[in-house]
Formats: sequence, C-alpha cells, structure tokens
Amino acid sequence: MTIHPQLTIPETIAAGPGPGNTDARVLARFASSGMADHMHPDVLRGMAECKEMLRDVMGTRNVYTFGVAGTGWSGLDMMFSAVMPGDSVVMFVNGTFSGIDGLTVRMKAATAEELAANSMDPQAASVTIINIPHGQSVTGEIVEAALVEHKPKWAAMAHWETGSGRINDIKGFSDACEKHGAMGLVDAVSSLGVEDFRIDDFPGVHGWASCPQKGICCLPLTYAPVSFTDHYIETLKATGTRTFVHHPILEARHWGIVGGEDVEKGTYHRTHSAYAVAAFHEALRITLQQGVAQRAKDYTFHEAALRDALNAMGCDITSNMTSLIVLDLPKDMAGREMELVQHCRAQNFGIWPTLSEPVQVRIGILNLLNQTAITDIAMRFAQAMRDLGAEVDQAAVDHALNRHYGTALAAE
Ligand SMILES: *Cc1c(COP(=O)(O)O)cnc(C)c1O
Repeated sequence: MTIHPQLTIPETIAAGPGPGNTDARVLARFASSGMADHMHPDVLRGMAECKEMLRDVMGTRNVYTFGVAGTGWSGLDMMFSAVMPGDSVVMFVNGTFSGIDGLTVRMKAATAEELAANSMDPQAASVTIINIPHGQSVTGEIVEAALVEHKPKWAAMAHWETGSGRINDIKGFSDACEKHGAMGLVDAVSSLGVEDFRIDDFPGVHGWASCPQKGICCLPLTYAPVSFTDHYIETLKATGTRTFVHHPILEARHWGIVGGEDVEKGTYHRTHSAYAVAAFHEALRITLQQGVAQRAKDYTFHEAALRDALNAMGCDITSNMTSLIVLDLPKDMAGREMELVQHCRAQNFGIWPTLSEPVQVRIGILNLLNQTAITDIAMRFAQAMRDLGAEVDQAAVDHALNRHYGTALAAE
C-alpha cells in the first residue's frame, strides 16, 4: 500500500485558452458554504436564483436555461442529446473544438450499424461535415450554401473556435438556419461571458451550451450553462433521447423547471453540491455586477494591448477572439513553437500550443483584465523568446504597451 504525500498544486499564470482565473470571491463562497444536501431549501433557492441570473447573462427568456454539472463537454453532450440516429446534420468545423463537436454529432447520429462499424470514429451517412481551414472563420455565406444544399434537421457550429482563436458568424448562421428550417445548435463555450451578445437575438439557434471555467470564471468544477427553446424541447419530447443524466427535460426539474414552466421548488434528478451551487451563484453575481457589456469592452481593450506588444516582438497573429491570441512566431523562430511553449510552462507560465495542426502558440487573458497582468504576460513571453535565442526589441514592446496604457515611458 502507498499513501502518497498530500497533493500540492502550484499557483500558475493561467494565460491559456482556459481554464480562466477563478475570482477569489468564487473560491471563498465555495470554501465557506455549509454542508447541505441537494434538497435543502437554500440549495434549491440558490439553484433557482442561478437559473434566473443565467437568463440575464445569456440574454434569454428561454425557460429551459440552467446548468449541467461538469465541464463544457457535459453541456455539449446534453445539447447534442436531441440528435438521434439517422438525423440529418450539417456541422461546420474550423478547429479542434468544433472538430470534437463533429465527432459527438457523428456518434449521436450514427445508426447502430454505422457505430459498430467504427465505434470510435463513426462515419454517419446522415452527417455532413463542412471543413473550413484552420485560421479562418465560418461565414454566413458558407452556412447558407451548405443549408440550401443539404436542408438538414440540425445545423451546428462553435460560436468562438478556441482551437484557432476564430470568431464565427453567429448572425449569418442563425439567419440561414431560420431561412432553411434547420434547428441551430451552438457551442458557446468560449464566448459566453466574454462577448456582449444576447442569445434571443439569434432565433435560428435552438440549443446553446457553454462551460463554467472560461468566461464565467468558475472552475471549482461547477455548471456548464445551457439554454433551449421550447421548439427544441418539443422536438426532443417527440423523439426522446437515450440518456438519463444529460436528459434536458429531466435535468431541468432539479432547477425548478417542470412542464415548460418555473415551479416553486426543484424535484430530485441527481445530487447537487452545495459548494458548487454557492460558487456558481457568486460567479454569476460577479458577471452581472461587472456587466456583460463592460466585460466585453475590457477584453477588447486588453487584447489589443497584448496584440500590439506581440506584434512588436515580430509575431504574426491569426486569431480574432478577444480572450485568446493565436500566433506564429517570427520567421527565424518558426518551428520552435512547441519548444517555446514548454519552456514557458516549465516556469508555471501557462500558455498553450494549438492541439491540432498547424502548431501555433495560444496566449489567453481570461479574467486577466488589468495592465499589470497583461504587462507581465508580455514581459515573460519576450524573455522566453530571448531564452531561446531570439532578439526582442524591448523598446518597441514597451512602446506598444505604453500606447494602450498611457503610462510614462520607462527611463530611457
Ligand atoms: C474549452 C472548449 C470546449 C471544452 O470544454 P471543457 O470545459 O474542457 O469540457 C468545447 N468547445 C469549445 C469551443 C471550447 O473552447
């Protein structure tokens, strides 16, 4: 028998695509919640209040708006649960995450024979995957053309593709879905809590799924926000789905949503953690106190500062998300992306490579919305490049940062 020593995990600079930096207030609520079971009145009240605040954060009147215990994929698994074997689906893929969404869809839509033929990577005849090259966005025209041709029951894409750092055209997607009678499903894992948008402005989209740990800043494994229109729920009710725990109608009951309406008290679906409910509740309060619009502005401002600093180091940025920068290194360092990322990570400076080809560097600023944090990231990255032998023009980097933050130039 081995009893390992107590586990210690160091504090890192979480400057990647996610998880983001959880607010100290969220951790404090997590750690100071009392032990209470999942039917305790205050836990149920907390869940009902979370549901209400989540509707404000997402900008929706969808009654079926709540959290799915777990990570982004838990919410996405629930969202895709309405896709049944043989259903026609068009899936737009422009990076790692929408690629996995595509695999999820093929697993759900595959017939029993198709699944058995290649169970880990089923080729479902009813699913069309539209591949958009890494580094490019899904445009309204691409969606329109595919939906005209295939007229699917479902269409799906990522709102913000975190693999390549690209924003996809959500309005074009929604419009095309409405026009061609497809029900839109959107992976909003990276955009919720970062961009200022209201899901009700996109009526072609019937299912949305996000995550706890990126824009919502609630890593202590809590809840993946989801929202479904009544049309989605009616469609699901008509076909059914083969999951108990991720069944949208069953899971909603614990959040006090029964028969399409808010009810006084949730009813048992599965055990919920008072700690998680308290943490999620505080994260939503913080989001609404700061305001979704103000937060979006802050991301835009600080991303621009870091972008300019990285440009001054000779990096070539190919992303357009405001929470994540995806870049190629200067020409004389091309091919050393992985080495550089590993060098940074070894110093607990937690940047990331891309997870699928081509290899690029990803630097995120989730909940790092201040001059000190952005300057620290820029300085560390510049130093890491020097450590690998690059020449970095420090004056140009300082100048770029100063232009955004308006501080006096360091003594020359
Ligand atoms: C991070 C991410 C996911 C996966 O979320 P987990 O919390 O790791 O389960 C899915 N889709 C997108 C677009 C993401 O950015």
